[in-house]
Amino acid sequence: MNQPEKDLLTTVDRLRDQQLAWTRDLIAIPTVNPYSGDASAGIEAEGQKWYAQTCHGLGGSVRQIPVPEDVYLQAGMIGTAGRCWRDRENVVAEWQFGSGGPTILLNTHMDTVGVEGMAFDPFDPQVRDGLIYGRGSSDSKGNLAVGLTALAALKEHAGALNGRLILESVVDEECNGAGAGTLACCLAGITADFCICLDDCTGAIHNGCNGIVTPKVSVYGRAGHAAGGGTTVNAIDKAFQVKQAVDRFAAQHLKKNPDCRVNLGIFRSGTLPAIVPSVAELQLNIAYAVEDARAAEQTNGVWNGAVIRKRFETLLANLAEHDAWFKEKPVKVEWLKDAYPFYSAADDKYSRTVIGAVHELAQREVPVRSMPAWFDAAHLSRILKKPVLGVGSGTPGKAHGADETAQLEYLYRGARYIALAVHRLLA
Ligand SMILES: [Zn+2]
Repeated sequence: MNQPEKDLLTTVDRLRDQQLAWTRDLIAIPTVNPYSGDASAGIEAEGQKWYAQTCHGLGGSVRQIPVPEDVYLQAGMIGTAGRCWRDRENVVAEWQFGSGGPTILLNTHMDTVGVEGMAFDPFDPQVRDGLIYGRGSSDSKGNLAVGLTALAALKEHAGALNGRLILESVVDEECNGAGAGTLACCLAGITADFCICLDDCTGAIHNGCNGIVTPKVSVYGRAGHAAGGGTTVNAIDKAFQVKQAVDRFAAQHLKKNPDCRVNLGIFRSGTLPAIVPSVAELQLNIAYAVEDARAAEQTNGVWNGAVIRKRFETLLANLAEHDAWFKEKPVKVEWLKDAYPFYSAADDKYSRTVIGAVHELAQREVPVRSMPAWFDAAHLSRILKKPVLGVGSGTPGKAHGADETAQLEYLYRGARYIALAVHRLLA
């Protein structure tokens, strides 16, 4: 490490109070995703306003990127339908250092999951025993402050740097969306030579993630009086048969890809005990691997989960072969989401530089691997067609929890990683 790099890190360390203040400010502003399931709906707007003002104060040129109604259609993918985008703009801020050089994009999300049932006030960022408490502390407000701190430090050591740095704070990453905020920025032409997604927790660098398909399965019965009457068919009973078929599918799927889980998240039916229900609904997330997307691309030219969707549809269609009722009333499958996976080889000069900086500061080999959960980096990789790495500074096991906290040590360390990495990328 040369002297200018050592000086940069000294500045990052000096900015710790500022970093903590930013993290606190962000946690204190509620930015719950409106589709969190909480009874009182939230929105990202106040947080995005804070972010835009802060970036402006740091000398960035700031713009707002709205999410178009047909964002998923524009990208040719199946995304979560029916979401409202009013007052939900992404914030993109840009700094130019010197002249020429590459453009580096740091992407993070402003929205958080819901706060119902949290063990403490989710918007009161208390600091105790090296931890900061609050919703978003690990996912992903701590990461937003990591990006800002790295930028602030780089600005003080910009003399020898050439290139552009873009900070992006997006909406709707959480709560079963399909990355509409990041996707909107990609479609609006916000691009770079290399992207770092500041999301998730510390401990690994992520160069890929699984895809997710979400089917909504409708299982039909024949309604009637609970006291009987001959022709009723209980949709709940039929849905149990479907559930068993789904379990068989899940077992096979998991055997092929142990990282690709199948989660039945919704299983509902019925109105009253006095009525035989006529319909039951199941919704599940099926994670799928990069290999599955590759197979789909080879078959029909599109990088998505078509192969998995077909397999699932066939399984449910086959139920009619041994069951007269399913033959009469076939199970209906609708696809709510197909968020594609990504894989970045991480062997380009940008990725190697970032991985090298992290290893050097961590003083050990930090694993570079794919993430089982989906994250916005997939859009950065697939739409921008640029190398992407996920480097998070949250605390493992704390995201989305009723007791969400973040280790300050990890957040401070994250700012060092990102500052040094970007300094080297722009040097
Ligand atoms: Zn996140």
